[in-house]
Amino acid sequence: MKYQRSSALFAAAQKVIPGGVNSPVRAFKAVGGTPVFVENAKGAYLYDADGNKLIDYINSWGPMILGHAHEPVVNAVIEKAKKGTSFGMPTEIETEIAALAVAMVPNIDKIRFVNSGTEACMSAVRLARGFTGKEKIIKFAGCYHGHSDSFLIQAGSGAVTFGAPNSPGVTQGTAKDTLLATYNDLDNVEEVISANKNEIACIILEPVAGNMGCIPPAKGFLEGLRKLCDENNILLIFDEVMTGFRLAAGGAQELYGIKADIVTFGKVIGGGLPVGAFAAREEIMNHLAPIGPVYQAGTLSGNPLAMAAGLAMLKELNEKRDIYDSINKKTEYLHKGMEAALNSEGIKFTINRVGSMISVHFSDMPVTDFESAAAANNENFKRFFHGLLNEGVYIAPSAFETWFICDALSYEDLDVTIAACGKVAKNLI
Ligand code: PMP
Repeated sequence: MKYQRSSALFAAAQKVIPGGVNSPVRAFKAVGGTPVFVENAKGAYLYDADGNKLIDYINSWGPMILGHAHEPVVNAVIEKAKKGTSFGMPTEIETEIAALAVAMVPNIDKIRFVNSGTEACMSAVRLARGFTGKEKIIKFAGCYHGHSDSFLIQAGSGAVTFGAPNSPGVTQGTAKDTLLATYNDLDNVEEVISANKNEIACIILEPVAGNMGCIPPAKGFLEGLRKLCDENNILLIFDEVMTGFRLAAGGAQELYGIKADIVTFGKVIGGGLPVGAFAAREEIMNHLAPIGPVYQAGTLSGNPLAMAAGLAMLKELNEKRDIYDSINKKTEYLHKGMEAALNSEGIKFTINRVGSMISVHFSDMPVTDFESAAAANNENFKRFFHGLLNEGVYIAPSAFETWFICDALSYEDLDVTIAACGKVAKNLI
């Protein structure tokens, strides 16, 4: 595989953009080498600046659940663009997508749209604080909720990859209100709550973690959190930026049958355009301005192009519910195939999977939290990543990321990927 043009583009980018990228994990720092510059994409494939064709297992970090340049989404954006791209005034399509989202997701009455998952989580926490009158929050080590100050305390994903879990620029004042707990450890959460009685506004978590690789909630973990929240007057926030409209039409709440108090969205809900959202039952959402005192706003929030893309995406997912079965089966097929390929070379690994989220950790211990994820062999991950890339298979360039399976992938693509894993496994240690 050749990367001359990507290399030249990266060199040019580095002169005018910090690190050459607009979001750190894209720079390949965790795995080394030159980031691949994309030219275009269609369905399950990326085409890079050197003309290489890659099978894509990232899918824009989640949004492209039906594949790239999906026609109903693209057409909806084109048609909307002809009518003007932003007004900063209410439009009918905002109500249309809000009504559909509220119908698809359990336990929410109202939803507000923002421009990113970061904004959604930041606003959800402000709302939780405004609603409860309490200031502290609990987050889990290794969970990522965007780059707003309160969350850059042992965040997963790029923040871990870059060794800056506590970023400079986050004040101690902010950090002291974020309490850390261990994912999948209810006793630990209980201890944190009792040490901060009546001070905790909310617990925020990824109901399936995707920012320390994919980590499922242990049996009883989500139920236990719900109970602790109820007993202590704490709001439970599910960050469904990854899981929303992906694990089921109603997200993780539907999959696990657990009710969250506030839910945040991003990725799939925008169909590949910059969209985030947060939602809750009416009594909570009515605390937001302009009817309530909790302020939150955005010039481009509810942007018509973004809403058109999101609406086209949600309509399709709502109408064709068998998509979920289809992507889950494809992911299971990949899981089994990779497992056999890696086993045949005697490699130590753990594959975690929930629905269409999957990741490989090079560790033979169960990977259940940040510590066990961090204990895996990163040298093997690097070899795995570059080996697959060389075979035309593009996975996330960090072990602290989940892969996202899209429905455009064919079983032939999956077989190609599994064969590539078998080949690459020979070079693992
Ligand atoms: N929450 C989760 C669970 C995420 O995975 C992400 C981004 N990967 C975010 C929040 C932040 O979303 P954004 O990058 O759109 O700001």
